[in-house]
Amino acid sequence: MNITTREHERDEYDPQHAVPTNRGRYYCDPATSEMLISVTNTIDQHMIEALAPAAARDTAIWLMDNLPDANRAAADPDDMQEFIKLAKGQYRLQWDKKADLGSRVHDIAEAINLGAPYFPDEEAEPFVDSYRKFLKDFGVDISRDIKAAECTVINRTIPYAGTSDIWANLRFGGPTSPIIPKFKPRAVPADPIPTPSGLWLIDMKTSLTKPASAVYDDYVMQLAALRYSEVALVCPPECRYGAAEGHDSSHEFEVPEFAGTAILNLRTNDYGFIPLPADRTAFDAFCGLLPLAHYIHGLELRGYKPVQPPKKTTTRKDAA
Ligand SMILES: [Zn+2]
Repeated sequence: MNITTREHERDEYDPQHAVPTNRGRYYCDPATSEMLISVTNTIDQHMIEALAPAAARDTAIWLMDNLPDANRAAADPDDMQEFIKLAKGQYRLQWDKKADLGSRVHDIAEAINLGAPYFPDEEAEPFVDSYRKFLKDFGVDISRDIKAAECTVINRTIPYAGTSDIWANLRFGGPTSPIIPKFKPRAVPADPIPTPSGLWLIDMKTSLTKPASAVYDDYVMQLAALRYSEVALVCPPECRYGAAEGHDSSHEFEVPEFAGTAILNLRTNDYGFIPLPADRTAFDAFCGLLPLAHYIHGLELRGYKPVQPPKKTTTRKDAA
């Protein structure tokens, strides 16, 4: 495989066992030291099409914010080249900033779930307030109902790995729940959504711009991949990075069956709890992406270049 780890890119917000590589995030199984592709890294193979419009949008916004500079640069070819180079990097900076904020919100939510203290974070705090509101509205008692927070899950059979944000026991008034009126869809019938009471697997999403109702097709596959993983790891810090001598089966337990799966969209002034049908079909679709991701990550095409045309060794003329 053409995968090299990028230890220098590791940061404190990386989930346990996660390893940055030149092919995106992998996890190092502490039991076998095998490198397992991450759930979101796999799904990225499917999402590549959506990235270009999102990058174009963020580049356009940056350009609007820097119009005087753009105008000045347009007058000189060298300045223009320089400006374009600068503009090209902006969406990545924006995305990294968003990812960093998301990681900080996840970290604080994890601390809340574990009843642990955390450093105040002004930028993350509005999202954390929305998280607290969700817990209150859905009657979640942290010590009674939260069964796991930010835990690494592994499927060694297929294999892949990921991080599951929250497992929580939820109680609903009935087998289905109505949609909040302001979010009722117009294009499709607004059926009540199945909400069986029991253990739910919940993934948090933070965004400063998207509505609390935003869902994407990759969410369903992500939830299914987490739901149908095999073992969850509850390792002490010594196991955090890669193969650990102290790791043993007491750090592992079977991933339970879930009554439901949902996305929890956290916004600065709101949240949306959206149950999604992360079933076997969604899992099969995710599994379909794994060979693609492995193939692409193993592909080395740098040595392939145009070849010279064959030398003409014959003097005989082609038939007229
Ligand atoms: Zn361990």
